[in-house]
Amino acid sequence: MDTLTAYRNHIGDMGKLASALSLLGWDQQTHMPAKGVATRSQVTGKLSKMLFELLVSDELGRYLAELRKADGLSELERASIRRVGKNHDRNRAIPPELIEEQSIAQSQAQTAWIAARQANDFAAFRPHLEKMVGYARRFAEYYGYEEHPYDALLEDFEPGMTCRKLKAIIEPLRADLVPFLRRLQENGTPPDTSVLNGTFDAEAQRRLSRRVLELVRYDFDAGGLADVAHPFTTTIGPGDVRITNRYLETQLLSSVFSALHEGGHALYNQGMPEEVYALGLGGGASNGIHESQSRMIENQIGRSLPFWTFFQPVLGEFFPQFKTAKAKDLYAAANVVSPSLVRVEADEVTYNFHIMLRFEIEAGLLDGSIDVADLPRLWNDAMERYLGVVPPNDTQGVLQDVHWSMGYFGYFPSYMLGNLYAAQMFSTIREEVPTLDASIRTGDFEPLLAWLREKVHRHGAACEPQELTKRITGHELDGKHFVRYVTEKYGAIYRL
Ligand code: ZN
Repeated sequence: MDTLTAYRNHIGDMGKLASALSLLGWDQQTHMPAKGVATRSQVTGKLSKMLFELLVSDELGRYLAELRKADGLSELERASIRRVGKNHDRNRAIPPELIEEQSIAQSQAQTAWIAARQANDFAAFRPHLEKMVGYARRFAEYYGYEEHPYDALLEDFEPGMTCRKLKAIIEPLRADLVPFLRRLQENGTPPDTSVLNGTFDAEAQRRLSRRVLELVRYDFDAGGLADVAHPFTTTIGPGDVRITNRYLETQLLSSVFSALHEGGHALYNQGMPEEVYALGLGGGASNGIHESQSRMIENQIGRSLPFWTFFQPVLGEFFPQFKTAKAKDLYAAANVVSPSLVRVEADEVTYNFHIMLRFEIEAGLLDGSIDVADLPRLWNDAMERYLGVVPPNDTQGVLQDVHWSMGYFGYFPSYMLGNLYAAQMFSTIREEVPTLDASIRTGDFEPLLAWLREKVHRHGAACEPQELTKRITGHELDGKHFVRYVTEKYGAIYRL
C-alpha cells in the first residue's frame, strides 16, 4: 500500500473514533440516564485513549514525514498534512504522563468548580485553578512560542493568532465601543420590550425552532433537534450534524436565537464535502471562524429588520398574540442593549467586553503577572471599567464560566473573533449579493447560504483563519467592520 493510502486509512480510523466519541457526548447531554455516567466515562476514556494513541503514533509520524516531501498531492491533502501534522507534533511534545496527570486534575477541578459556584466560594476553587494554570504554563513551554506563552495556547483554537495581534485588534475596538456604550446609555432611547411579554408554551417553541431551522436551510435529513440544558451542536460526521435547544416559557426569543446560532454552526458542518471529513479537516478553519458562522445567522440575520419583516407572521402562526404585532417593534425589542453580569446573556454591543477582560486575565496568568488569588478583585474592577456593573458575588462573576476548570486557556478570544469575522464577512456579502435584504424579507435564505457554502463551508479546515478572511474579504481581520455594524444599527434603534 502506498503511503498516501496508508495515511488516509489512518486518518479514517481516527475519524471513526472521533465520530463515536461525538455521538457518546451528544447522548450523554441529551438522553443518557443519570446512573449511566460511570459506564459512559469508562467507554469515553477508553476511546479517547485509542484516538490519542493514533494521533501521536510513530506510524503517523512516518507517513507525515514522507508526505511532507511528496509531490502530486491535492490541495486538501496538503492542508490535511499541515493540520494533522501540527496536531501530531504538538501532542507528541507533551510527556504522556503529564497529559494523564492534567486530565485527572481537570476532572477534579470541574467538580470543585461546580461546588464552588453553588456555594459562591472562590477560595474553594482557587487551589484547583492554580493547578490548571500551572499545567497550562507547562504545556505552553512544551508547545513552544516566540513571544508570549499565551500564543502557544491560542494556536489550538485560533491558528496564527497571537497575544500581540489580539491586543492590536482589541485596542481600537475598545476605544470605539466603550464611549459608544456610554452614549447609548446616556442619550439613547431604549426600545420597548413589552411586546415580548408573556408565557410561551414549550412544545410550541420546540415546533417553532424546527421551523426556524428549516427556514435557514438546515437539513433535517442530515441531523436532528434534541432537548438539552445548554444548547450546542455536535458533528457526528458527514450526513449527521445534530442540534440541541432548550425552551424557557417566559423567554421566547432565547430558543429562537439559540436555534439560529446552533443552526449557523450546523450549516457550516453540513456544508463540508465528504473529502474534507475524510482528511480530518471537518473541524472548520478555527473556533473563531466556526463562531462567525453561528453569530452571523443569529445576529446579522436573526436580529435584522429584513428577517423580522418575514418572521413576524411566522411567529403569529405559533403564538397568535404576534399576528397583529409590528415587525419593527419586534426587531427593536430583540435588540436591547443592557450591560449584563453574565457573558452568555450579553447583547451584541457589550459581548466583546466580556471577552476582553477574560483575555487580559488569561494572558496575565500565563506570563505570571497576575495571581489566581487576585482574580475576584481584578474581575470586578474590569467589569466596572468596561460595563459599569459589578457582580454582587463570585458566582455571577469570576466563577461563571466552565472553561478555566477544564484548562481551556486561549478559548475565550474565539467568541470575540467570531463576532468580528462575522461582521467583516457580512459587509463583503452585502457588496457581492446586493439583493440579500430583499431575499431575506421574503424568507429566501438560499442566496446567503450559497455564498457561505462557496466561500467558507466547503473548505473546512483547509485554510487558516487569517488566510481565509483575506481571501474572502480582501484584507486581514479588522474590528472596524464590527464597529460600523453596531454603531449604525444601534445608533438607529436607540435614536442617537
Ligand atoms: Zn457558538
